[in-house]
Amino acid sequence: MGRVAGKVAIVTGAASGIGRAMATGLAAEGARVVVADRDAREGEATAATLRAAGGDACFVLTDVTRPAEGETLARETVERFGRIDTIVCNAGIARRTPALDVSEAEWDAVLDTNLRGAFFGARAAARHMATLGGGSVVFTSSQLADFPRRDMAAYIASKSALLGLTRALALEWGRYGIRVNAIQPGVIETPINRDRLSRPGEAEKDLARVALNRLGRPADLVGVTIFLVSDESAYVTGSSVRVDGGWLGPS
Ligand code: NAD
Repeated sequence: MGRVAGKVAIVTGAASGIGRAMATGLAAEGARVVVADRDAREGEATAATLRAAGGDACFVLTDVTRPAEGETLARETVERFGRIDTIVCNAGIARRTPALDVSEAEWDAVLDTNLRGAFFGARAAARHMATLGGGSVVFTSSQLADFPRRDMAAYIASKSALLGLTRALALEWGRYGIRVNAIQPGVIETPINRDRLSRPGEAEKDLARVALNRLGRPADLVGVTIFLVSDESAYVTGSSVRVDGGWLGPS
């Protein structure tokens, strides 16, 4: 039996990078997985890969910036699998602009995806979980909420707010048996940072701060995700876990 056998898990932003690895890891441990993303081609492909590996998975096209689509996602999950045990609110975007130059449009795009989208997606799922005896919400925050990087004010504001949201919702939803936790990845090589890390010296600068002396891979997030989704973490809520290889060195 897998560690999350029989559980129904929604993962947003599961068409790529960290979300795809989380979805793959949850399916490998027995979860039935709903891959949610705004990228239909890669989302369908991810769900097909999970099914080919013997998992039970489907794709639901979802733009998390539209709360109504989050509600459709939750409803379709219940129609397809009968319940929701987990939502991993992982979809996110990053923009790099000096704070003095950030436009309203950029600020809104980042906050709408990373914070507003995460909240309304989580709430849509939680309304079902509350009637079904509980569940687990996981937000993908960022190490940058603790250790900021220049020119990422909107992103860092969104990821820091997710940590506050984690504690606020954990307090409110504990009475329904819904646990709410956050994961803070460090520098994980995915399309979100491919351009930056390909610039000369950038990866080396980051590496100098990582105790384990390597950048992260999406698979590095899988263990903590399974833990937070599974009953192994039954008494863990309102917490955040940094998965950053030890971001401790000099900047
Ligand atoms: P990624 O770009 O590979 O994946 C992000 C996914 O989110 C993509 O599939 C994209 O289509 C989807 N997405 C974006 N906007 C969406 C929307 N409005 N609706 C639905 N789906 C949407 O990047 P990643 O590195 O895998 O990022 C996953 C999460 O991890 C993000 O929240 C990111 O901020 C966070 N994170 C990443 C790192 C890192 O170093 N890679 C570090 C800390 C936190």
